[in-house]
Amino acid sequence: MQFLFSLRSRGVTNKRVLNAMERVDRGKYIRGTFEDRAYEDTPLPIACGQTISQPSIVALMTEALDVQPRDKVLEIGTGSGYQAAILSQLARRVYTVDRYSRLVREARAVFEAENITNIIALIADGSRGLPEQAPFDRIILTAASEDPPSPLLEQLRVGGIMVLPVGQSDTVQTLVKVVKTEDGLDYHELRSVRFVPLLEGLGKENA
Ligand code: SAH
Repeated sequence: MQFLFSLRSRGVTNKRVLNAMERVDRGKYIRGTFEDRAYEDTPLPIACGQTISQPSIVALMTEALDVQPRDKVLEIGTGSGYQAAILSQLARRVYTVDRYSRLVREARAVFEAENITNIIALIADGSRGLPEQAPFDRIILTAASEDPPSPLLEQLRVGGIMVLPVGQSDTVQTLVKVVKTEDGLDYHELRSVRFVPLLEGLGKENA
């Protein structure tokens, strides 16, 4: 796919990540007006006023998450389902949640059509995490918050990794990698990014 070239040039070198990016067809996760731009390395609008992330950012976040084959992963912000599909190639099981039921329904339909069976997509406010399935080996947020939500830090296993954009919604945010150790939390700042905000509660259309 076209953007795989730009991934390598943007410093994504992990073979497992590049293979996963190659196996997932981004075109399946975009509908309507922007369909024909699916293979460009750019974020694009999806339903409910949200966006599918830029492929090179998906790759960088996936690489930073260092997913292992036995891992149970939690993604906050299903959106189109594209990032979850990439993670599903690398992990044992992926839980993904979104506050919009429409996005969750549409993503589930694509996973089914693509024969992806290790993703569980749920409608939920991800700022609370998913306590009933905790702890997780890896947690990824694809919406920005001002601080890492504490329920999510609690639901991360010791030895686990969390990757998230931190900062206010209308400015440039910082992509942060948090490593949970026996002694506490280690923070690493990776680069600047721009994501839609992590909002509390369920989307209005669910009410
Ligand atoms: N990972 C997605 C990109 C998602 S955009 C993809 O690959 O396409 C961010 C998503 O986060 C949006 O769909 C938005 O509805 C969702 N979101 C924002 N706040 C949330 C919250 N508190 N809980 C769950 N999802 C949330």
